[in-house]
Amino acid sequence: DPSMDTYHPLKQAYWKDQGLTPYLALARTFQVIEETKGRLKMIDILSNFFCSVMMVTPNDLLPSVYLSINQLAPAYEGLELGVAETSLMKAIAKATGRNLAHIKSQTHLIGDLGIVAEQSRVSQRMMFRPKPLNIRGVFSKLREIAKISGQSKITLVYDVFVACRFSEARFFIRSLIGKLRIGIAEQSLLTALAVALVKKNHIKDCKISKVSDVYKDEIAETTLILKTTFCQCPNYDIIIPALLKYDIKELQTRCPMHPGMPLKPMLAQPTKGVHEVLERFSGMHITCEWKYDGERAQIHLNDSGEMSIFSRNSENNTEKYPDLIARSKAILKTNDIKSYIIDSEIVAWDLERGQILPFQVLTTRKRKNVDIATIKVQVCVYIFDLLYINGNSLVTKPLSERRKLLFEYFQEVEGEWKFANALNTNDMDEVQQFLEESIKGNCEGLMVKTLDEEATYEIAKRSRNWLKLKKDYLSNVGDSLDLVVIGGYKGKGRRTGIYGGYLLACYDAENEEYQSICKIGTGFTDEDLRAHSEFLSKHVLSGAKSYFRYDASLEPDAWFEPVQVWEVKCADLSLSPIHRAAIGIVDSDRGISLRFPRFIRIRDDKNAEHATDANQVAHMYQSQDQVKNNQKSANQMD
Ligand code: ATP
Repeated sequence: DPSMDTYHPLKQAYWKDQGLTPYLALARTFQVIEETKGRLKMIDILSNFFCSVMMVTPNDLLPSVYLSINQLAPAYEGLELGVAETSLMKAIAKATGRNLAHIKSQTHLIGDLGIVAEQSRVSQRMMFRPKPLNIRGVFSKLREIAKISGQSKITLVYDVFVACRFSEARFFIRSLIGKLRIGIAEQSLLTALAVALVKKNHIKDCKISKVSDVYKDEIAETTLILKTTFCQCPNYDIIIPALLKYDIKELQTRCPMHPGMPLKPMLAQPTKGVHEVLERFSGMHITCEWKYDGERAQIHLNDSGEMSIFSRNSENNTEKYPDLIARSKAILKTNDIKSYIIDSEIVAWDLERGQILPFQVLTTRKRKNVDIATIKVQVCVYIFDLLYINGNSLVTKPLSERRKLLFEYFQEVEGEWKFANALNTNDMDEVQQFLEESIKGNCEGLMVKTLDEEATYEIAKRSRNWLKLKKDYLSNVGDSLDLVVIGGYKGKGRRTGIYGGYLLACYDAENEEYQSICKIGTGFTDEDLRAHSEFLSKHVLSGAKSYFRYDASLEPDAWFEPVQVWEVKCADLSLSPIHRAAIGIVDSDRGISLRFPRFIRIRDDKNAEHATDANQVAHMYQSQDQVKNNQKSANQMD
């Protein structure tokens, strides 16, 4: 029944007969989620499915989880499907006997090859009905498809496609394209798993539809454990078996961090000046480090001697820096270092002058299949933290201790490996002077960090224990924002034929939605505008997604998939009756918008979910002097 909105674990007994979960059960779950608006309801539906699998066919939980977020392996392994739409169209045409041109025009009209595939199935007649698909089978086929190329890829697609029933065709094709379009991302998935676990524990003493209300606290605690574990061990191949085998309270120790697996990095809070640093850290030991303007790099060495380099987004950048790997032995002071994880910033380096080059130079480096002999842009690594050494995690140790170990085990190599320039001081004149020096040294400013108290490495957190102090802050706004492009407006005059303006959004991680924050038309060169139009026109949607929040008056000429992040500066932030950024945080009905937004650059190192989030926008709004003063005088009047 495609309208059924929940799978009840105890009603799925027939799965057991075969020991396999039908793919159709998952496809129908997706179908219902796609038709659902509220996030909590979406999570509830997914959790019912996971709970069913946990109870009836637990061996299928891992492939079910991967299929729900459309991944084939841990994200950092970079195994991607992304089969070209035209190849898929050919496979669909062959399987359904429809004409290729018809499929193309339908796709253009509907804007979704998945739906076209599903509709095409209806007219198909088969001589022999293939066996129904199951989750494990589909998942392993997808993995195979990702790993091979050419015609055999399409043959495999065809084999699965002819066995698809009902909405299976829609989601199988969408998986292959790389976009499931059900709006389930990592955070919702982890919550759904937690809810499923609690449901499974209490299904005997409570109706399934009641579990979420009755066991709220247990769900909150389980969700937190799962999310925290995922930050140190972003690998379902490890987490899911542990989840099924051990008590949830043991999960974090059963899934420890280890080299080769990226940790979500600790992030910093913006400040507007030395006085704010002084206020926050009064009476605490602090250190100031130069804030290098390059690319964040988590550098790992594992026990087998393999090295990997991960970006701020946990993408595997190892292939991009073979030169660093080749010379990495030189930083080891002793032979007894078997494994480590260091946190650092890679910057472009001027070999002749012996100085740091601007960030833009670094972006010209090739990303894949880099051959050392052809590298033009040299780099230097500035190491600022040590998170793991010889089998031991250091994240719960204070920075002073981590730094001591860093200096004990590692050494600098001129122009190649350096420790971040640091000064331990609580004297604000010295901080100010160090800030000036950092700017002269081609840095963005300072990172000010706690040394002893409240000085652990907080995985995945934007922490108050790391403050960034930049020189070029506009007087009223602490920082630039990183925003997602969700819509485009057709240009006029010189901009005719391309998009002349865009609609930008921040990301609300709690609700997993994109909230409009401003329109932007300034800061672009003609070249930028042409390039943006060309890139974004490949990501046009047939309409707004359910997880875009905006006012109807902002309706753009085209909606885009949330695929690109732009760094934007503005004069200030104000409350807005039409924009929805951070709505409900500062004001119950109004969102926040940017005044005089200006495009700075594309942030290739961030994906849409790493854009500035709603809480940060609210924080930036509230820390503006004017807003603070108004609040003060309102309090005085009370
Ligand atoms: P976000 O705060 O969202 O990471 P961002 O990527 O724009 O934003 P900033 O907030 O400007 O980065 O600053 C934090 C980044 O600064 C770190 O992610 C790191 O890449 C870089 N960085 C440079 N020098 C240091 C340092 N000494 N300590 C920590 N981070 C540093």
